[in-house]
Amino acid sequence: MTGTLGSVVIVGGGTAGWMAAVAFGRLLGPAGTRVTLVESDDIATIGVGEATIPPIRTFHAMLGIDEDAFLRATGGSYKLGIRFEGWTRPGESYVHPFGQIGTDIAGVPFAAQWLRARQAGAADALGAYSLEARAAQAGRFSRPIANGDSPLSRIGYAYHFDAGRYAVFLRAQAEAHGVIRREGRVDRVERGPAGIAAVHLADGSRVEGDLFLDCTGFRALLIEGALQAGWTDWSQWLPCDRAVAVPSAADAAPLALTRAIAEPAGWRWRIPLQHRTGNGHVFSSRHCSEDEATATLLAGLHGEALADPRVIRFATGHRTRFWSGNCIALGLAAGFMEPLESTSIHLVQSGLQHLLRMLPAGGPPAQAIVDRYNRTMTGEFVRIRDFLVAHYHLNARTEPFWRERAAAPIPDGLAEKLALFRAGGRIFRETDELFNEVSWLAVLTGQDAPVTGHDPICDALPIAIAAKRLAQIERVVSTSLTHMPPHATALAQLATNRML
Ligand SMILES: Cc1cc2nc3c(=O)[nH]c(=O)nc-3n(C[C@H](O)[C@H](O)[C@H](O)COP(=O)(O)OP(=O)(O)OC[C@H]3O[C@@H](n4cnc5c(N)ncnc54)[C@H](O)[C@@H]3O)c2cc1C
Repeated sequence: MTGTLGSVVIVGGGTAGWMAAVAFGRLLGPAGTRVTLVESDDIATIGVGEATIPPIRTFHAMLGIDEDAFLRATGGSYKLGIRFEGWTRPGESYVHPFGQIGTDIAGVPFAAQWLRARQAGAADALGAYSLEARAAQAGRFSRPIANGDSPLSRIGYAYHFDAGRYAVFLRAQAEAHGVIRREGRVDRVERGPAGIAAVHLADGSRVEGDLFLDCTGFRALLIEGALQAGWTDWSQWLPCDRAVAVPSAADAAPLALTRAIAEPAGWRWRIPLQHRTGNGHVFSSRHCSEDEATATLLAGLHGEALADPRVIRFATGHRTRFWSGNCIALGLAAGFMEPLESTSIHLVQSGLQHLLRMLPAGGPPAQAIVDRYNRTMTGEFVRIRDFLVAHYHLNARTEPFWRERAAAPIPDGLAEKLALFRAGGRIFRETDELFNEVSWLAVLTGQDAPVTGHDPICDALPIAIAAKRLAQIERVVSTSLTHMPPHATALAQLATNRML
């Protein structure tokens, strides 16, 4: 390689492969880089992965993807957050909303003022102050509406979409940017001085490249099969190791939220799309058989099942080296954590964004770049893992699975977060951490994390005045809500937009 990156070979045409193809095709194609994607029609994609988080909008904007066209093509819907049902104890629920909650009060962050007032019995539940949480629960949605300082002007949202249709949609975009698709099964990976020299397809052809992206899903054909990058196992922190998934008939009045419903040995997801609902049950095979998990899933469906349930086995953890030689793993080949906070597709996006900042400038990649990438991605995975573990650790359910989770040791980073929160409700976001203070506040208070006392900085303001300010914020949110149409209306609007 000299100067321009000559050729990039992406192996795998699932969500990860096609996201990479659009990004590389659009951003590097004009500079003369040849981008080829190899996928096998004989090997199915994972076919799930339908809930996202707000940064995906930045990714789409970077790639010039039109939101309306994307939602129409993928049967997509809007998402304002995740509702955790029964995670503390059966019958209780809370929303982890996107976006901001409230505003500073007397120069003190909303979270601190709210916590103090809540402890004094002078504030409502956190969700009352979040437009996204209220709208999600009420089945309403609007894109941001420019309206001064109103919460309507900064609505945080993401999407649900059909994973299969998303890959088809991205493929069209990638091909329009000059990406070449090669259909064929990779039978052999040829090693070379830089790492990978070429992949050999079943028809006898050989595809060589300068840089290889392993997007072959759980198979990890290049990064592990050829390069043995190693696996860091996290099943001690997150022991669920199976999911069973089934689509069902669409909801007439879909909520703009993902539901995560706790079950005796795991949890179920429910994801509303325009043309169907995605359902799944993530569980621990030590606590529940595949038949039992399937029965629980089917019993919880609201509409008719549209296919046979499908069991997916997985391991939780990540490649010890995400980048090895001239090969970078993305998507399931890079690692996996259960979809509790819809983070896997985001990790593809962030892997790509880091990679695009660290591309080799000619010749083999510098080891310093490779090390930096691996450290960055490991950090991202670790911080998301800690957030997920918090959901399980803080529970008051009685089933053996849940008691085990409450009693199990937790990672040091999470232990520190919980200790800081316990001592006056402090939350500190680590550098580059995906989940911000609002997300942690929503989940920690939603899960009843213990907290003693409050931040003394609040005491400059009498509690009665703080309570009044909180009530004002709640009124603004209530008024804003009336400006948001039903989510179903916002989706119907997509068809109308096409006709304009
Ligand atoms: C149960 C479950 C639920 C999930 N839910 C969510 C969610 O809600 N939100 C979220 O963000 N993420 C979710 N994910 C993760 C998400 O599905 C994946 O991160 C995403 O789809 C990326 O998958 P992939 O492209 O890496 O792999 P895959 O979809 O498995 O694609 C692999 C590709 O590699 C190709 N391939 C494999 N071997 C060969 C070969 N020998 N030759 C040629 N081609 C080959 C296949 O043909 C296929 O095209 C979920 C995952 C699971 C398991």
